[in-house]
Amino acid sequence: MGQISIVPVNSLDSQFTERLALCLEERFLFSCIVERTLRVPRTALNSVRKQMFFNTLMSRVALAPVADPDAIRLAITDYDLYKTSHQFVFGDANEDQRIAIVSLHRLRSDFYGERADPNVLFQRTLKEAVHDLGHAFGLKHCYNARCAMYFSNSIYDTDNKLSHFCENCEKKVKANH
Ligand SMILES: [Zn+2]
Ligand SMILES: [Zn+2]
Repeated sequence: MGQISIVPVNSLDSQFTERLALCLEERFLFSCIVERTLRVPRTALNSVRKQMFFNTLMSRVALAPVADPDAIRLAITDYDLYKTSHQFVFGDANEDQRIAIVSLHRLRSDFYGERADPNVLFQRTLKEAVHDLGHAFGLKHCYNARCAMYFSNSIYDTDNKLSHFCENCEKKVKANH
């Protein structure tokens, strides 16, 4: 059986990551473990944007020691991420390196001036984690707005989609196992 390794970047609620691991095991039928925390200091941020360049974090996660070097990695970070092509991203993945990264920064209700809600944060994180792991498994974006592989331009897209793949994407992910 394949393995997914969750890599928490800096301190995260361990109940949160353990719950995420259980849900991902169920979605992918992979064993999923939470690795030791990867320390990434704030000095790694782009000091002008106060955001983390996606590729900077990707290269750090690639070097993190994990139990199974063949495992697919999923890093979870509080840092706000950006790419050359995007002002911000909820997350993304590198298919060749089989690494996915999800940022919690813009998944939090309080980012939008609403009351903090741990359950909303968890559901959004699960959707984006399934999405970015989908990329790590070789899936592209899907035009079905309910499918986890639908690209989220905004938090409304994330809230509108499900944490599952549509039938087509599910077939592809199974084929790539
Ligand atoms: Zn995507
Ligand atoms: Zn789909």
